[in-house]
Amino acid sequence: MDRSEDPVFSARGLCKSYGAGEVTVYALRDLDVDIRNGEFVVLLGPSGSGKSTLLNILGGLDAPTSGHAKWRDHELTGSSEADLTRYRREHVGFVFQFYNLIPNLTVEENVELVASIAEHPMKPTEALEMVGLSHRLRHFPSQLSGGEQQRVAVARAIVKRPDALLCDEPTGALDVETGKMVLAAIARANAELGATTVVITHNSAIAGMANRVLRLGGGRIVADERNPRQQRPEELSW
Ligand code: ADP
Repeated sequence: MDRSEDPVFSARGLCKSYGAGEVTVYALRDLDVDIRNGEFVVLLGPSGSGKSTLLNILGGLDAPTSGHAKWRDHELTGSSEADLTRYRREHVGFVFQFYNLIPNLTVEENVELVASIAEHPMKPTEALEMVGLSHRLRHFPSQLSGGEQQRVAVARAIVKRPDALLCDEPTGALDVETGKMVLAAIARANAELGATTVVITHNSAIAGMANRVLRLGGGRIVADERNPRQQRPEELSW
């Protein structure tokens, strides 16, 4: 059997609810999904449709109320906090809407911090080269634009050579042109590192970059589409 065809993420019957009785909010309702190695998946859907909840469960940051999720052969649901911490540290790079860089460390030091606890990191300068920021190594976050700061956050996520790159609204705070540069950095990490990539957005134009688009609505996957051709970020119009 060709193991490369096995899903890297596999979730079955995922439910997530908050509260009880009449005030129960259902974030996920019986959701099944398989994501294969190296895929570039865009999760699309209106606010409140369950995108972040799904991403956080796949990333070991949250647990479902019922159902289960696996990373390769490793059960995420029911794992100890220590196991999940190790899973995140070894396998997952996260990019969030807000960059969360450490203000009193330089660009290179922000990336070095993650590299220093990773098993097989690339050099921080290599990660920063991949996002087009080789010329900013000694700058502090406050000296960079929002788009540049987000590219540092992408470098920080990829320096450990993660198996999965999980991005929650990475361009949500950026204008179109800087957003495209951030997406280009994410696409490059997917193509060159082979990191299985999941990007949340509510901007349907970004879906053109993916090879697979999962549309969420009301805590369910309402459409699962494949793109015959992935667009480059500079080809996107929004
Ligand atoms: P999306 O990422 O698509 O905007 P989320 O996964 O963040 O959606 O949220 C799905 C639903 O779950 C929303 O209705 C949201 O209000 C609700 N929700 C998420 N987190 C919590 C929480 N901690 N407490 C209560 N409700 C929550």
